[in-house]
Amino acid sequence: MLRDLPGAAIRTQLTLPLRFADGFATTARIFTFDGLADGREHIALGLGDRSVAVTRVPHTGAPPLVRLHSECLTGDLLGSLRCDCGPQLTETVKRIAVAGGFLLYLRQEGRGIGLYAKLDAYTLQDAGLDTYDANIALGYRADERDYTVAAQMIQALGVKQVALLGNNPDKAAQLGRLGVTVTERVPTGVHINVANARYLATKARRGAHTLELSVGAPQTEPLVDGATDHRRCPDPLALPEHDEPTHRDVRVDDLWVDGREVWNSPA
Ligand SMILES: [Zn+2]
Repeated sequence: MLRDLPGAAIRTQLTLPLRFADGFATTARIFTFDGLADGREHIALGLGDRSVAVTRVPHTGAPPLVRLHSECLTGDLLGSLRCDCGPQLTETVKRIAVAGGFLLYLRQEGRGIGLYAKLDAYTLQDAGLDTYDANIALGYRADERDYTVAAQMIQALGVKQVALLGNNPDKAAQLGRLGVTVTERVPTGVHINVANARYLATKARRGAHTLELSVGAPQTEPLVDGATDHRRCPDPLALPEHDEPTHRDVRVDDLWVDGREVWNSPA
C-alpha cells in the first residue's frame, strides 16, 4: 500500500497505434488520470503485454518494466541533439514493448523548470555553466522533479512492484519513499553525440546517473534476488540504436568523442 498518497484513478484508456521515425511500430494502451497531485495532464502508455485494458482483475506475472520519461519538447519532438531524450524515448518504448510494461510520460520539461526556462538555461550553458549550475543560476534547484504523480499513476494502474528502466537513481529512491517497490533498476543505453557529450558527462558526474560512458553494454543492478532480467531483449528492434560515435574512446572525466575532446567545449 502506498503511503500518504492522494488517490488517483484511471480517467480514460484507449488503444493508440504508434509508428516512430525509424519505422518501428507497435500498439499502445494510453491512459489518462483523475486526481494527480499537480493537476497536470500526465499520460501512461501500456506496451507489450500491458497494452491491454487495465481492469479490476490484477495482472499476474513479473513486475512490469516501467520508464519515467520527463517531457522534452526539443529532444522528443524536434530531435534536438543537445540532450539524449529523443533516442531514450524511442529506445525505452521498444524495450518495454518487448518486456511488457508502462512508459509514464511526465510533463516535467527541463527537469521541472519548464520550456522557456530550459531554453534560458541553454543560453547560460552556452556561456559556460553546466546543466545543473544553469538551473541554479536561474533560481531553480538543479532538479525540480517530484515523482509523486508517477507513484499515483503506478498505483492507479494496479501495479505494486516495478522494474525501473533508467539511469537516474533519484527516480528509484523517490518511488521507494512513495511506497512503490522497485525490484530492479535496468539501465538504458547511452546515446552520445558531440553536442550532448558534455551534458551526459555532467549528469554522470553531478547527478549520479549510472551512465556507462566508457565501454560496452549497460549492466543491470538487481535489487531483489530472482528479479526478472530485462537485459535480454530477443527482438533486435528493441535494442538501443546509437548515433555514431558511441561507446568509443569516451570517459566521464576526460571526454573524447570520435577523437575530439569535448569535456571543456560548450554543449
Ligand atoms: Zn531533452
